[in-house]
Amino acid sequence: MPESIEQLIRDWDGLAVVTRYHEPTGAWIFIALHDATLGSPCGGTRLKHYAELADGLRDAMRLARGMTYKWATLKFKQGGGKAVLAVPGALDDMARRELLLDYGRLIESLRGAFSTGRDLGTTDDDMRVLSEVTSYVHGVDENKETRDPGPYTARGVVAAMRATLGVAFGSDSFTGSSVLVQGLGGVGAPLARRLAKEGAVLLLSDIDEERVAELAGELGATSVPAGDVYETKCDVYAPCALGETLNAETIPRLRCRAVVGSANSQLGEDDDADRLHERGILYAPDFIANGGGALAFALINSGMTDEGKLGLRLDAIADTVSQVLTRAITENRSPHHVAVDRVAAILKAG
Ligand code: NAD
Repeated sequence: MPESIEQLIRDWDGLAVVTRYHEPTGAWIFIALHDATLGSPCGGTRLKHYAELADGLRDAMRLARGMTYKWATLKFKQGGGKAVLAVPGALDDMARRELLLDYGRLIESLRGAFSTGRDLGTTDDDMRVLSEVTSYVHGVDENKETRDPGPYTARGVVAAMRATLGVAFGSDSFTGSSVLVQGLGGVGAPLARRLAKEGAVLLLSDIDEERVAELAGELGATSVPAGDVYETKCDVYAPCALGETLNAETIPRLRCRAVVGSANSQLGEDDDADRLHERGILYAPDFIANGGGALAFALINSGMTDEGKLGLRLDAIADTVSQVLTRAITENRSPHHVAVDRVAAILKAG
């Protein structure tokens, strides 16, 4: 049975949810503040239509928890938060702008208790609109120029994948390893290009068939229909589209040996980590593998603009993944649980 909004709020382990209804568009704004142990909550803004309003709140809550895990793993002085703008359907340009301005004023009124950037469904232009009314938006500079986090995230995913190959197969070379990238957007496309350069055997999939055909042609990759992803044999499955693609229904169908991707909240529920473990599929926890964009933006905000230095920091994601996977193998546990324990220890230490 679907959870109600009351149930979700009652059962949540986070701090609070700031909620607002935007009357002119019929959209609901949820700002989920999960944890502020290390600093003010920070996370992207997702704009999406949900069949049930509670699904939007649930999305904001689970994504906010993921941000707590991400910032703690990176040991950054930032807490976990995420916003969802749950829209009733497509909005015209004027209505979208009105909603964003209202949402931006709400963020500003929180005086730094939450800061945000792009996520699924929001664009650079949306961030520029927010920056008209709030300074608590990342990725827009004083000249209103924006920076795309996707390529930074993709570099971090490659680092995580390299570490996973090393632990799983004893060699961190991509040559001859098959990688199936699901979702060829802001992260998936630059990821596929990097993997092609590394010599991986590429399998590409997206619900946008034209996008698949174009990129597969460019990179000499094989196209995989969106409905065949889980049954397709590969060394690494890289979820780079929607969350919760690892669940009780899909895990038995998987024919991969490892999962490393950018999607947030890849596990349908925590038990799915054990299901993967039982099947012998090595899972690089999403909140470690996809931390590259957040890390790069945080470093840029703190004054590090040298791309070479940034790149080295992103490549170091491999070290964290190696440590977590090695410990998981030693303890015969899922890497997800090992990584969550690691976060708990970091938060406890403050
Ligand atoms: P995006 O919207 O740019 O691209 C998503 C792609 O997935 C699109 O090409 C879309 O057509 C495709 N897609 C959607 N549903 C699909 C399905 N069912 N099967 C196959 N393909 C499907 O998003 P993005 O910025 O590339 O982000 C991808 C994922 O990574 C998201 O879950 C996002 O939350 C997460 N993430 C992104 C970043 C970042 O830097 N952009 C950082 C951390 C996490």
